[in-house]
Amino acid sequence: MNYFSTRDDTLRRTASEAILQGISEEGGLFVPESFPSVDLAALMQLDYCTLAAKLLGLYLTDYSESFLLEAAQKAYGADRFAGKNAHLAKLEDGLYSMELWHGPTCAFKDYALQLMPLLLTEAKRINHDKTKTAILVATSGDTGKAALEGYRDLPGIEIAVFYPDHGTSEMQRLQMATQEGKNVHVFAVEGNFDDAQTGVKRVFTDAAFAAECAAVGKRLTSANSINWGRLAPQIVYYFAGYFQLVRAGALSLGDPADFCVPTGNFGDILAGYYAKQMGLPIRRLICASNRNNVLSDFGASGVYDANRPFYKTASPSMDILVSSNLERLLYHESGSAAQVSRLMASLSSTKRYQIPADLREKIAETFGFGYTDEDRCMAEIARTWKDDHYLADPHTAVALSVARAGRRDGIPCVALSTASPYKFPGAVLHALGGSVSGDDFADLALLEQLTGAPAPKVLRELRDKKIRFEEQIEPEQILAVARAL
Ligand SMILES: *Cc1c(COP(=O)(O)O)cnc(C)c1O
Repeated sequence: MNYFSTRDDTLRRTASEAILQGISEEGGLFVPESFPSVDLAALMQLDYCTLAAKLLGLYLTDYSESFLLEAAQKAYGADRFAGKNAHLAKLEDGLYSMELWHGPTCAFKDYALQLMPLLLTEAKRINHDKTKTAILVATSGDTGKAALEGYRDLPGIEIAVFYPDHGTSEMQRLQMATQEGKNVHVFAVEGNFDDAQTGVKRVFTDAAFAAECAAVGKRLTSANSINWGRLAPQIVYYFAGYFQLVRAGALSLGDPADFCVPTGNFGDILAGYYAKQMGLPIRRLICASNRNNVLSDFGASGVYDANRPFYKTASPSMDILVSSNLERLLYHESGSAAQVSRLMASLSSTKRYQIPADLREKIAETFGFGYTDEDRCMAEIARTWKDDHYLADPHTAVALSVARAGRRDGIPCVALSTASPYKFPGAVLHALGGSVSGDDFADLALLEQLTGAPAPKVLRELRDKKIRFEEQIEPEQILAVARAL
C-alpha cells in the first residue's frame, strides 16, 4: 500500500515514509491509495490486539506482521486498558457508549498515542534513519499527556509539551507536570492555547532552524492527528465496537449500525470513515460538535467558515475552529487533489471555503452533523446519570445528546465515549447539581461519593505525585527549548 498527498496525487510514499514525514512537503496530508477490504466473519473471531495487527497490516504493508502484533500487544495488552478495550456500555435499547478511556491517561487519544511512537521508531529502523527525533506538542490538555506517556523513554526521541498556563483543568495540568521519563519536557506557556500553538508552529516553519537541525542530524516532528500513524490505529475500535453489538445480539453480522463521534480535529470520525470504506456495515457517521459548531454549519451549508468567535466550553478538546483531517475526507469524496488544493488555499487566505453542491450531497450520504450547546451538554450528563445510571464526561455527553436527538429508527447507534468523567470532575459535578469547590480533587471525591463509583487510580494518585515540571515560558522561548532538545 502506498500513500499520496491530498494536494498532490502524483507522489508516492511507503507507509513508514508517510509516518516519518508526517505532513507532505506541499502541506497536504497523506492518504492511502486504496481502501483494503476485509472478511468480517474472520475478523470477528480475533481478540483486540490481533484484530489491530491484522487491520493495521493492511495499511502498513512495509511493517512486518510480527512487529505489528508485538506492538499491538505492548499498546493494548491487558495492563494498558484494564482489559476493557473499546468496552461497550448499553444505555438503552439501541443506544451504546463505547468507552475508549481505560488507557493510561483516561482519554481516547491513548489508542493512537500508545501505538504511534512504536510505529515511528520502527519507521526509523526500516528507513535507516539515524536522526534524533524532537517532538514538539502544543496542547490544550489531552494530547500532551497522551503523547508524553506514549513517547517516554523511547530511544532516539525527545519530547517537549507546551500547554497554556491556566488554560487546562487542574487534573490535566498535574497529569503533565508529574510526568515521569528521561526524555520528557513540559512547559507552561504564557497566554492561551493559540499562543502556544502559534509559538510551536513558528518553530516548525523557521527555515534557519530547520537548516540547523539538519546539520546536527535532528528531525523535528509533531504528535498531532494529521500523521497517518495516529489515524490508522483508531480504525480498529470501530470494528471492535461493531462486533460487540453482534455478539450481544443487537444485530446480525452485516446489519447496519450508526456511530456518533464527539469531534474536534475530525480525526476520530475519519477513522470510522475508513472502517466503512473497508466494508464495516456503518450506515451513518454522525459528527457531533460543541458550541464551536463550525462543522455542523459546514454540513448544512457546504461552507466551511472559521471566521467566528471561539468559545471555551466544558469539552475543551473539541474547542477547535480548523478541523485539519476534514481535508482527507474532501480528497476521498472528490477524488481531486487540485480541488482540495484550491479549497485549502482559500482556507489559509480567508479562513473560509465553499464546496460544490454535489460534493456536499455526497458527503451527506454518509455523514450526519449536529451540535450541542453548553446547557444541553450539562442536561445530557444529568439525564444520562438519572435515567441510565451512567456517568458521561462532557465530550461524551455532546455525542450522546446529538445521538439521542437524531434517533428515529431501530438502527443501533454507538456514541464514542472519549474521556473518563473523572478527568473533568468540576464540570460533571456541576451538571449533577453538586456544589463545585474549584479544587479538582475535592470535586473528584464528591463525585465518587455521589455516584458510589471510584475514579481511575491514575487520577486519584496524582494528588500525591511529585511535581517535576513547573517552568513558565513566553511563546518566544519555545525556539530555545527546541534547540536544546
Ligand atoms: C481530542 C478529543 C476529541 C476530538 O477528537 P478529534 O479526533 O480531534 O475529532 C474528543 N474528545 C476528547 C476527550 C478528546 O481528547
